[in-house]
Amino acid sequence: MSINIKAGSEALLAAQFVDQDRLWDRMMSMADIGSLPNGGVNRPALSSSDIEARQRLLSWAGDFGFETKLDNIANLFIRLPGSENNAPPVTTGSHLDTQPRGGKFDGAYGVVGGFECLEAIYRSGIKIRRPIEVVAWTNEEGGRYQPGVMGSSIYVEELRLEDQLNKKDADGIRLEDALKKTLDSTPLLSRRDFNSPMSAYLEAHIEQGPILEGLNKTIGVVSGIQGLCWFEVEIFGEEAHAGTTPLNKRKDALQVAISIIAKLQSSILSYGDSTRFTVGRFICEPGSPSTIPGRVSFTIDFRHPEKSVIEEISNVITTVCSNHANDCKVTVDPLIFNMPVDFDPRVINCVESAASALNHEYNLMPSGAGHDAGYIAKCYPAGMIFVPCAGGVSHNEAESASASDLAAGIETLTVCLVELANS
Ligand SMILES: [Zn+2]
Repeated sequence: MSINIKAGSEALLAAQFVDQDRLWDRMMSMADIGSLPNGGVNRPALSSSDIEARQRLLSWAGDFGFETKLDNIANLFIRLPGSENNAPPVTTGSHLDTQPRGGKFDGAYGVVGGFECLEAIYRSGIKIRRPIEVVAWTNEEGGRYQPGVMGSSIYVEELRLEDQLNKKDADGIRLEDALKKTLDSTPLLSRRDFNSPMSAYLEAHIEQGPILEGLNKTIGVVSGIQGLCWFEVEIFGEEAHAGTTPLNKRKDALQVAISIIAKLQSSILSYGDSTRFTVGRFICEPGSPSTIPGRVSFTIDFRHPEKSVIEEISNVITTVCSNHANDCKVTVDPLIFNMPVDFDPRVINCVESAASALNHEYNLMPSGAGHDAGYIAKCYPAGMIFVPCAGGVSHNEAESASASDLAAGIETLTVCLVELANS
């Protein structure tokens, strides 16, 4: 079923109440919490600055009397009621935690912008059938406690909260203690269950890549999240004297590694422009100029938006490693195997229709990075809206986005939330 947004519709009316300056001021107000000298933000999950950010959000919600709830991993929900308030909500949101030297926009945009939608819809006076909620997911970044996307994964019961409680941060603080402090900071909020149904989930985020900027488009209609796989390759040769060992007697682990990586580079990149291939960690032992390397280990990170290609590339990796082993022993261990996520066709269509109706130029594209929406999509119809960020720079203090692009994304989001709530 496609969504057709007509001129003069209530959804478009609500979008007119999105206020670019108010959105920008709130973004900057949020960026003050945990601000760094070079313009970035350090707001670790469940830290005192994360608690302060949550309280700022709650104070804005308090101005309108919006209902607020928490679940047991401190995912925070703010609700604009609908006329059928017991129906599953249409939910938007993202995360308030940042990388240790993160920017002002990654995550905060989806939460603060989601709140701007609530305020715009409220001020427009239009009626919505299903409730609309904004969520701040706990610990998306995974900078303080691993893994990331923890709050959304626990929400959809991909991870169990009990299994995370003993995790420690770099200072030895247990997650259970940091979580308790966060939950105790809002004693009046009532609790909700994990996996409370949503009728749809739509997350706004900066792109964190250069594609929209390069195309000079304002809105990224996100089709899904590309698959991500990590492998660790270990090559066992034999340490020997660099001067006395003849070439035909050597088991040189480094030479084998070089030929494997060169072959992988050409084979994997032949799958086209959407493929990403990176060897990010490389260890060569014993690391002495006059000893033939006896052991090399390296990681492979590869990504692609199609499931069949992810499977094919995994097979290529094992084949190339065994074909180029020569006299060495080569082992290949998968570390992460995240299949691509396809977003819901109806939600994708809704974002396209909303961007067209608002005359915002858009580009249909997969997400290169992982997001909470990728986990929510396992249970509920989900999608994402991207806006450009300067130079595609993210996870960096220099992260930057324009006030008008941010507002365009939130206008698009507002139209979608109203359409999804009323359809
Ligand atoms: Zn993010």
